[in-house]
Amino acid sequence: MANEQGRAAAGTLYVVATPIGNLEDITYRAIRILGEVDLVAAEDTRHSRKLFARFGIQKPLLSYHDHNERQRLETLLARLQGGDDIALISDAGTPCIADPGYRLIAACRDAGIVVVPIPGPSALVTALSAAGVSTERFAFEGYLPPRAKARGDLLRQLVGEQRTLVFYEVPHRLAATLADLADIMGGDRPLVVARELTKLHEEFFRGTTAEAVSRFQLEPARGELVLVLPPAKQGPQMNLRDALRKLLNDSDLSRREAVKMIAREYGLPSSDVYRESLNLTKEEAHDE
Ligand code: SAM
Repeated sequence: MANEQGRAAAGTLYVVATPIGNLEDITYRAIRILGEVDLVAAEDTRHSRKLFARFGIQKPLLSYHDHNERQRLETLLARLQGGDDIALISDAGTPCIADPGYRLIAACRDAGIVVVPIPGPSALVTALSAAGVSTERFAFEGYLPPRAKARGDLLRQLVGEQRTLVFYEVPHRLAATLADLADIMGGDRPLVVARELTKLHEEFFRGTTAEAVSRFQLEPARGELVLVLPPAKQGPQMNLRDALRKLLNDSDLSRREAVKMIAREYGLPSSDVYRESLNLTKEEAHDE
């Protein structure tokens, strides 16, 4: 399309969410936009053709995934600048949520191209919406690191987290992840494993991390998985303060030694534990 100066008006990038299983979970607006744009950038074009066939959408598809993101970016940007409207979709759910897309969107925003979200399903929100845990505050951690050392280090950092934690996981790593969760977060920590959401074998396993270890040892998980961990019932912050108080008052350890020990045990930065120890001492002096 040309504007009054005869220059092509830039097109719009639509970020379109698609179903995570059940194809009925697509919005009217998503179907309309996918039918109206000039081009659809899709993670896996073969996969998206099935979705298009179901809704009678006939649009050219161009692959846009982790491995060609940088080179495709220029092509897509040029077409948008030339006036084409483009939709970005991923294999399932909302683009950019554990899926490629943000580089293209950032480049469009930098270039002054209008970006319009077309909201729809995401496994993260779908799992949270029906897990039956507090969702007032939550933190999405995406996939945990595949390597045991990095996974353990990250989980230790998250032990004291007071928000509900959400992880994406793949079936072949579930057993190792559950074992680490039980080990590091405690075997009695509640956990929800949301499996195959919106599909025929949808399941919400609710129990403790230790129960999840046994359950998925007996029957290895298949399909797609979201792990939801509500905060520990007894706030670790309180445990930490009790543990600190005990060490500071009832042991011969210096403050530095006590802080170092607690920081290691709780997987927290020493500077945070040190600050907490000073707060405790201040509170105790005030109470006397
Ligand atoms: N963009 C997607 C979204 O908005 O949820 C996520 C894409 S990410 C590459 C794929 C991961 O999402 C899976 O490994 C799984 O952890 C989670 N997931 C996607 N669909 C799911 C489903 N139907 N049930 C459970 N988890 C799902």
